[in-house]
Amino acid sequence: MSDRKGIVATLVDCFAELPGIGRKTAERLAHHVLRMPAAEAVAFADAIRAVKEKLHPCKACYNLAEEDLCDICRDPRRDRTVLCVVEQVRDLLAIEQAGTFRGLYHVLQGRVAPLENAGPERLTIDALVNRVREGGFREVIMGTTPNVEGDGTALLVARRLEGMPVVLTRLARGLTVGASLEQANRDMLADALSGRQPLK
Ligand code: ZN
Repeated sequence: MSDRKGIVATLVDCFAELPGIGRKTAERLAHHVLRMPAAEAVAFADAIRAVKEKLHPCKACYNLAEEDLCDICRDPRRDRTVLCVVEQVRDLLAIEQAGTFRGLYHVLQGRVAPLENAGPERLTIDALVNRVREGGFREVIMGTTPNVEGDGTALLVARRLEGMPVVLTRLARGLTVGASLEQANRDMLADALSGRQPLK
């Protein structure tokens, strides 16, 4: 009995770890899983296992990939002269959903946040600098979040790219100020992209 209680409690704890899920909801979800048909519950667990075992950062852009390169980097229809720098994979997905950007991406895997003691060293800035140095890009769009930390990160990245033969631009502000890219809706993001401004 105590064993079974432990197993359920572990599942509740797992759900409670998820963002936006309180204790009560975690309990409800755990009990929902208990009532699921076994095959469905196992498929759910397998889906979680698969994203951790089969996905890793793309060797070029740090998007999630099943092979060395992600689907976007391997797509021959993408414009290889325009690069959009974003903080996280979910920002990339938000821009992809807006559906107007046809270039490539670079995922920084975070942003510089002095108040959280998060410096630039754990970001993929060196890899970005190498990519741009190798040539071929004519424009690098700073697609970091339009807030203080995102702006700071964009400036830091821009400084590292100084002197390279690329035009640096920033997503247009307007409606999306302060909002994360994933909160912005499709039209807002499409506008921010089409209205992008030269940086500095
Ligand atoms: Zn990639």
